[in-house]
Amino acid sequence: MEHTRYRGRFAPSPTGPLHFGSLVTALATWLEARTVNGDWLVRIEDLDPLREPPEATDQILHSLDVHGLHSDEPIRFQSRRHPAYQTAIVQLLENGQAYRCTCSRKQLQAHNGRHPNECTKRHSAPDDAPYAIRFALMDQSGQWQDLLLGPQHQTVRAELDDPVIQRKEGFFAYQLAVAVDDIDQGISHVVRGSDLLDMTAQQQQIFRALGAQPPLWLHIPVILNAQGQKLSKQNHAPALDDSQPATNLVQALLALGQRPPAELTQADVNEVLAWACTHWRRAAIPLTSRQARGITPSTQSHSDH
Ligand SMILES: [Zn+2]
Repeated sequence: MEHTRYRGRFAPSPTGPLHFGSLVTALATWLEARTVNGDWLVRIEDLDPLREPPEATDQILHSLDVHGLHSDEPIRFQSRRHPAYQTAIVQLLENGQAYRCTCSRKQLQAHNGRHPNECTKRHSAPDDAPYAIRFALMDQSGQWQDLLLGPQHQTVRAELDDPVIQRKEGFFAYQLAVAVDDIDQGISHVVRGSDLLDMTAQQQQIFRALGAQPPLWLHIPVILNAQGQKLSKQNHAPALDDSQPATNLVQALLALGQRPPAELTQADVNEVLAWACTHWRRAAIPLTSRQARGITPSTQSHSDH
């Protein structure tokens, strides 16, 4: 299954409104797709209703809209994709590439991350205990070419790293859903934060287990706050100020190592995006978060709102 057309995506979890770090990722995915006349899709990864304030999805979609980042296809919601994930789980279980695991975190720690045979060799669902479904990784060293970071090498440890693909509560997990949807939507390139870099070799195995060629990856540095932590909901990153989208975009371009002229903050959003398309240089993206620092997200002054 060769990818013939560039198809990229921005796929936020609606755990809160977009913050500056998510705008940087969204803009990088959009520019990578636009500058090669590829498709750019938006996917809402709403897999865990317990962590998702009901208003967050609308806030995210509104922010993207205000910043001129429009999906080329109808927005996909993972909450409406459960049958596809269930089909994938059944397939992986039947192929012996997944197993039903009753272990608690405590039990796993006590056994150095190893699962008893009751987990890995079980043939049907246990009727007496709740279970998660884990993907059975193969002991393997994964190698690939990151489009920014160059050659990558990761060791995957079977059992110890086996990711949960359906949680005990029944929720489908990110590791499964992201692969099923990237395959289904024909995503050829994934641009995302380098906090997800360590998962790549595992994810390649999941793509292959589902019969698909993995996409190409480009990991951009995560944006840090003044304390050196990743901008995130957990670290109380302020929401993007949707009233000044051109300024936000210019600052996102700076964080991506681009050199927009200062007067661009006075332009409208479409002019900023047009400048960015013309001048986009992937090679200018900083390799590390430290190098990406040195700018203050404009949203910080609005953190008390
Ligand atoms: Zn287990």
